[in-house]
Amino acid sequence: MLNNHSAPESTDPQWSDPFSDKLHEECGVAAIYGHPEAATLAYLSLYALQHRGQESAGISVSDGKAIQTTKAMGHVAEIFTDSVLREMPGSMAIGHTRYSTAGDTVERNAQPFSVHCSKGRIAVAHNGNITNASELRADLEARGAIFQASSDTEVILHLVAHSREKTLAGALRDALLQLEGAFSLVFLAEDRLIVARDPQGFRPLAMGQLEYSGGTPAYVFASETCAFDLINAVYLNDVQPGEMVIVGPEGVSRERFSPERRRSQCVFEHVYFSRPDSIVFGRPVQTSRENMGRSLAIQSPAPADIVVPVPDSGNAAALGYSGESGLPYRQALIRNHYVGRTFIEPSQAIRDFGVKLKLNPVRSLLEGKSVVLVDDSIVRGTTSRKIVRMVRNAGAREVHVRISCPPTISPCFYGVDTPNRNELIAANSTIDDIRRFIEADSLAFLSLAALSDAVQDQRGEYCYACYTGNYPTELVSIDQLIRAGRKADG
Ligand code: AMP
Repeated sequence: MLNNHSAPESTDPQWSDPFSDKLHEECGVAAIYGHPEAATLAYLSLYALQHRGQESAGISVSDGKAIQTTKAMGHVAEIFTDSVLREMPGSMAIGHTRYSTAGDTVERNAQPFSVHCSKGRIAVAHNGNITNASELRADLEARGAIFQASSDTEVILHLVAHSREKTLAGALRDALLQLEGAFSLVFLAEDRLIVARDPQGFRPLAMGQLEYSGGTPAYVFASETCAFDLINAVYLNDVQPGEMVIVGPEGVSRERFSPERRRSQCVFEHVYFSRPDSIVFGRPVQTSRENMGRSLAIQSPAPADIVVPVPDSGNAAALGYSGESGLPYRQALIRNHYVGRTFIEPSQAIRDFGVKLKLNPVRSLLEGKSVVLVDDSIVRGTTSRKIVRMVRNAGAREVHVRISCPPTISPCFYGVDTPNRNELIAANSTIDDIRRFIEADSLAFLSLAALSDAVQDQRGEYCYACYTGNYPTELVSIDQLIRAGRKADG
């Protein structure tokens, strides 16, 4: 079921509810090699990556002889208690955290997936979206493959199992070359770890090293470097687009499974998705966001008294805006970080609770003030509308909304959840229509050129498809063409 942005506002207490009908997955992955407490380190890494997916989490661990997987719906810390981790011995592990579609919200889609095949026992976890998954799946099914889940990731395991190559690395290379789209993958075999990134490098994957007493250094991999900080690992570099890194008893080897292609790193990782304390695609996310805010202040000044971030997504850009404009930065919206999934929905009489559960205004800061409200993005527009109302109800005289990226006009097919084109408010309305819808006194978005400058993309290495509609891969399925709002026969 797909909502329309003009439909009645959702009453789900979590205001990320616009995304509850997601078609694609947002995920985080991690991998550890060569540490006696690999499962615990994978758990801590996933804990730091929780923002990348809150629906389910899982860890596969190997003790050199067998692979064991634990996965469940829920948050990382709920699933991996002390007693669960104690039963997961081994020096190699991979982990995954996932935010899935509502229709897909079932445990059988939780990752890692693990199978026993001619190449031995293997487990895999995936961040991204395979754009030719339905075609590959139909082909595999015609050849007798039986699928247990609806996730793209299972396709990869079947491709590996069907490969005529003798070694696991060979079969993986074979499988990866058939995939289109975005993938940062971590594989676990009984005695080794293999990680890989798609040739265009859509999603991040960082490599690090961890010294520990009494052993040779362990290797760690994660979607974001904030995972390394928690486990005291040092960030070495990124797994390169089109590269496969194999870590086994013979050491580390790095090889290209695909020739270099033009990079398409997801700019939305820097706009919203990654944590500001991470280094993503080799650059600090905080720096990019402050740059976005500074440019926004230059491009779209506002007659205001204070700059207020929408926490946490607008914090860094608001800091940049404030620094550049000279307007004071005020934390006039307070976020409750403890809004849990188990919150009981209030009755009809007290609905539209939604945003209030998560944010509360500081009246003493807002009363009588003209406010610049900075947030990262507008997707359907419902969140901004609620927040603008909240700020005004708390006494603000004027509310000027500034968004630290361009209008989102096209869905993502590479692992970020955006709704269909017809539900994206900016795909169907002018900026002034959006301003009216969100009830702001003024509204401005960052320009595409300024966004590209903010991430220092001199060489055109980022994907901006959600802002331009120009996709760096072919849209191969009818579903993609329909979601992108293009004629399936065109
Ligand atoms: P809305 O305009 O009501 O659809 O919601 C936009 C807000 O949701 C933005 O301020 C972001 O902070 C957040 N957001 C944007 N994109 C995503 C996404 N792909 N997944 C989760 N939250 C998102």
